[in-house]
Amino acid sequence: MLSVNEARERIRSSFQATDIETVSLVASVNRVLGMDLAADHDYPPFDNSAVDGFAVRTDDASSLTLKVVADIPAGTSPSITLKSGEAARIMTGAEVPNGATAVIPVEDTDFKDHQAGTTAPQTISFEKKPAAGANIRRRGMDILTGEVVLQKGRVIKPQDLGLLATLGFANVTVHKRPRVALLSSGDELLPVDVPLEPGKIRDSNSYTIAALIENAGAEVIRLGVARDTREAVTSLLDRAIAESADLIISTAGVSVGAFDFIKEVIESNGSMDFWRVNMRPGKPLAFGSYRGIRFIGLPGNPVSAFVGFEVFVRPTLERMTGQMDRSWQTVRVRCAEEIDSDGRESYLRARIRTENGIPIASLTGHQGSGNLLSLVQADALLIIPAGVKCVPAGQEVDAILL
Ligand code: AMP
Ligand code: MG
Repeated sequence: MLSVNEARERIRSSFQATDIETVSLVASVNRVLGMDLAADHDYPPFDNSAVDGFAVRTDDASSLTLKVVADIPAGTSPSITLKSGEAARIMTGAEVPNGATAVIPVEDTDFKDHQAGTTAPQTISFEKKPAAGANIRRRGMDILTGEVVLQKGRVIKPQDLGLLATLGFANVTVHKRPRVALLSSGDELLPVDVPLEPGKIRDSNSYTIAALIENAGAEVIRLGVARDTREAVTSLLDRAIAESADLIISTAGVSVGAFDFIKEVIESNGSMDFWRVNMRPGKPLAFGSYRGIRFIGLPGNPVSAFVGFEVFVRPTLERMTGQMDRSWQTVRVRCAEEIDSDGRESYLRARIRTENGIPIASLTGHQGSGNLLSLVQADALLIIPAGVKCVPAGQEVDAILL
């Protein structure tokens, strides 16, 4: 049986990043940047005042009382040159006039009328000459022309939009969202909005896995539930082809049950690379292709499907969405209790609390692969490596934070 790492690499390495497209700045948030972006001008674009106050010359040998010769609101470009003995009233963000080398905050002057709408005084007095450069934001002090400000492969954050707007990027080149077709399978599955019937349960995987796909930056094509027949499975898989999906994901039906038709249908219309991985939960994990489209079969049990997504599908979608290759992100946590394992690489639901700065992990109830409540209560998956049968209390293990 394949190890988790081998299986993940087999899956991941068979995908490439999607093509790029151009979207509006507003639509680019949470998308993956498709190229390096460099500034085509300096920022700030001109020397400007960091405060409301008075622009002065620091080389001015004259007195600490100056004649106010201009009033410079934000948004204007002053044409004057400040001479010895002169000052100009200036607002925050306004362009500093020629000749000025510092701005004195209005609070540090004898001009006490700070109401909006007041006209500039005739003269201005202050007690101490400012240092050269005081309260002036120099052209280019944040960003220089040609500087790469955001790199290809970055997931665009809200604060990135502000930077892109600052630099005039009305449109942004991003990777296309991969289209992922999702189906559940099983005769026992009912939709969420009908009463339970004997022998039936509600389909939960459709909801969890669809949300995970979207959360990873892909588009979901919801194919619904396939009944446990060859025809039903074939017909939903064919819909994924008609929708030109980039990837097909199913849950359940890839085990060794007498009605697990998915594996068989994939094999007779494509190929199966592998269908079992040495892990717990989630041993029945299939990877293959159906009529030329790659297929990942997650297990049916809801916790196994979730773990399978996090371990195999999320890293694959990161590659497909063009994200910079990230290393597998884990943290070290200390086990509060002794943990038994069966020698397979195991992913156990745990809650983390911090004691004296040390993260301590306790399991959240029984680890049955159908127990969604214990997944909901968990904020981490502890990774017990393959070959380990017992982790003593107090020992540290790797964990994925949820
Ligand atoms: P299977 O792989 O078809 O043998 O399914 C394994 C287990 O997962 C069974 O107990 C199924 O009832 C359960 N299961 C399969 N699909 C779903 C689903 N979409 N939602 C909730 N439970 C499921
Ligand atoms: Mg089934």
